[in-house]
Amino acid sequence: MQRLQAFKFELMPNGEQQRLMRRFAGSCRFVFNKALALQQERHKAEEKKLGYAALCKVLTKWKAQPQTLWLNETPSQALQQALKNLERAYKNFFEKRADFPRFKKKGVSDSFRYPQGIKLDQSNSRVFLPKLGWLRYRKSRDVLGEVKNATVSQSGGKWFVSIQTEREVSQPIPTGDDAVGIDMGVARFATFDQSLPEFDNKDHIAALNSFKRHETALRKAQQAMSRKTKFSNNWKKAKARVQRIHARIGNARRDFLHKATTTISQNHAMVCIEDLQVRNMSRSAAGTTEKPGRNVRAKSGLNKSILDQGWFEFRRQLDYKLAWNGGWLVAVPPQYTSRTCPCCGHVSADNRQTQAQFLCVECGFEENADVVGAINVLRAGHARFACEVSDAVRSPAAGTHRSDSGAAQCRA
Ligand SMILES: [Zn+2]
Repeated sequence: MQRLQAFKFELMPNGEQQRLMRRFAGSCRFVFNKALALQQERHKAEEKKLGYAALCKVLTKWKAQPQTLWLNETPSQALQQALKNLERAYKNFFEKRADFPRFKKKGVSDSFRYPQGIKLDQSNSRVFLPKLGWLRYRKSRDVLGEVKNATVSQSGGKWFVSIQTEREVSQPIPTGDDAVGIDMGVARFATFDQSLPEFDNKDHIAALNSFKRHETALRKAQQAMSRKTKFSNNWKKAKARVQRIHARIGNARRDFLHKATTTISQNHAMVCIEDLQVRNMSRSAAGTTEKPGRNVRAKSGLNKSILDQGWFEFRRQLDYKLAWNGGWLVAVPPQYTSRTCPCCGHVSADNRQTQAQFLCVECGFEENADVVGAINVLRAGHARFACEVSDAVRSPAAGTHRSDSGAAQCRA
């Protein structure tokens, strides 16, 4: 099977390269925003949305206009990639995977992508990027496979390159042989249907709350920044500090998720998980103007926890890592998983007396509510998997975005 993998390194650019990268990222943001504004104008005038090819023609016009001649200093392919990103943002919106495309702000996920023209000199820890020349990077590991594209991004005052490669790997044989059911929660990040020796807490993974842990530090840093005169030197220092804390939060979360998903995918061939609609849950808090969400504060607290803990990311990583190890992820609809008795099958809301405790009103079976959820998820997963095999269609886990070619995506 083809494996796509991304290798991310910190860049060590010189002053001139930093200036250029800031300019490239700014130009890409400019093109993205200008194209988005154009699409919105067309929508208001009831004109059809322009496709990628048509947008590229518009871009050529912009590059010829005297007031935007500076666009020519940025690699054309990176500018075109910004238009592709806009296309994808629209597509995600139409397919209900994301909110309506938003204008990009300076300093928020600044990045640009090279679809080609990259040269990699691993023995000298350097990478060649068009119009930037050779850049040194902090080599933390070897890049495997054929280089397909590279994305340059800025975060916490540092520059990074993410090199995506493709390589042929043999179809792996599952290393773990048993199945596990997972119940996702807020108090506990994940609960298993059984005790797993590879985890400290055996039957669950404790809450991450990486954001909460750093929340106080972040709030203080933000307050300090707000007291400074905007754009003064002290303000810039305070801003850099805020960005560093943000970066630290992101790193802690990534680390946590990678460790958890690697351990699970190495030890289990089949992982069943609830098909939670996290997006809907996070939307319901605000409600609509006609019908404002009740209990907004409490709910947004929960939502923040959910998003903070990265359930989506957890599932995405499980999906591709299981595929790498020859296993598979089964997503099951969450109906009744928290109310069905695993012992006698009785379904009742009364079975769950409190958030933490499950007690069957029919047969008296008693267990931690999250463990019951995980047992039911595993059973539903087994049932679902049996159906799929008998149909001779082993579809990728429902709702995940593995490409049709069977290649597993990774942005580690
Ligand atoms: Zn029962």
